[in-house]
Amino acid sequence: MTSKKQVIKKNKSPLEQEREFWISQTELKKVGLVVVEMLSHSGMGEKQLQALKACGTYLLYKATFDKTIKKNYRSNFCHNRFCPFCAVIRARKDSMLINTVMELISKKEHKKFIFGTLTVPNVPGEELADTIKQVNHAWKKMMARKQFKAVNKGYVRKLEVEYNAERNDFHPHLHFIMAVNWSYLTDKHYFISQPLWLQQWQDVMGDSSIKEIKVKAVSDREGSVQELAKYESKDIVKNPKKFTDGAMYYYYQALKGKQKISFNGLFRQYRSIIATIEDKAKKGEELTEKEKKVNELLPKDMNTYYWWLQANWAAGGYGHEYQKMTPEEVEQNKGNGVKDEPNNQPNSGKNGRDSSSSSEKTNS
Ligand SMILES: [Zn+2]
Repeated sequence: MTSKKQVIKKNKSPLEQEREFWISQTELKKVGLVVVEMLSHSGMGEKQLQALKACGTYLLYKATFDKTIKKNYRSNFCHNRFCPFCAVIRARKDSMLINTVMELISKKEHKKFIFGTLTVPNVPGEELADTIKQVNHAWKKMMARKQFKAVNKGYVRKLEVEYNAERNDFHPHLHFIMAVNWSYLTDKHYFISQPLWLQQWQDVMGDSSIKEIKVKAVSDREGSVQELAKYESKDIVKNPKKFTDGAMYYYYQALKGKQKISFNGLFRQYRSIIATIEDKAKKGEELTEKEKKVNELLPKDMNTYYWWLQANWAAGGYGHEYQKMTPEEVEQNKGNGVKDEPNNQPNSGKNGRDSSSSSEKTNS
């Protein structure tokens, strides 16, 4: 499973990748500061604002020998859903998890998947919070209906809200990926056609003016996952300046504290098994036979890390420094898929500090 993005990345030299990494980190941090400013007029508490402002001012990653793969080790991320830095990290984590869960459902439960987008007409900021409640409620109501219960073997569902700056209104919609039996697409008594999805959605929403929905079989699994798991607050990451103060207020008030991504049925079941396996690995506890079988199918980190990468944000840019790990640290920090082999450290590079790249200032 290699995404298009990764393929492009592979064609770039390590030096070029390094340069682009710092450009994107710097950009995200700068956007974050714009968001802080906007959220300070939107009712966010002072404590959260301070955490968001401080997010990513200190980064500690571990990096592979050629430095092209960097993994967070201990950075001061704020985990706020309105934070651009954290939104990007979260989207990456969500898509990895969903891809893995789908792989397990397909291999172990022999299911197929459908991808759907259900929309409602755009609403002004004043109505956004109520509309979101209504959408969530309507989805639950629809899934409780007999014909959907028969089809649905579990889903992952995400609420997305786009802001239209020209019209100054919002476009809430749902994306979902649902596991179905193989017979779903061929069995006429069972299959739910697109017009029927639309009719049912209009019905549970109580709005016959809804026209835009799309439900189709998943052919490109990664593409579907990417569409579902892309940034929670895409508009905030891409272009927060397009929000008026009023719009940001409604956006924040409508979305704060809301669960935006939810797992059901087989999706929930396998997500929970994965969490248990990860938890047991951390504690060094033994896996059950069932967990062992699932664990064999989980993606593993095949990387060995040789560098500590530390960065500090100051005066509008990152100063950063690579420091070589000790052999003990290399051993302690290798990926969970790396086999135990003595002497697997590449025999090049200097010992101690890599002075060539110390304290570089990027994009100030
Ligand atoms: Zn953050």
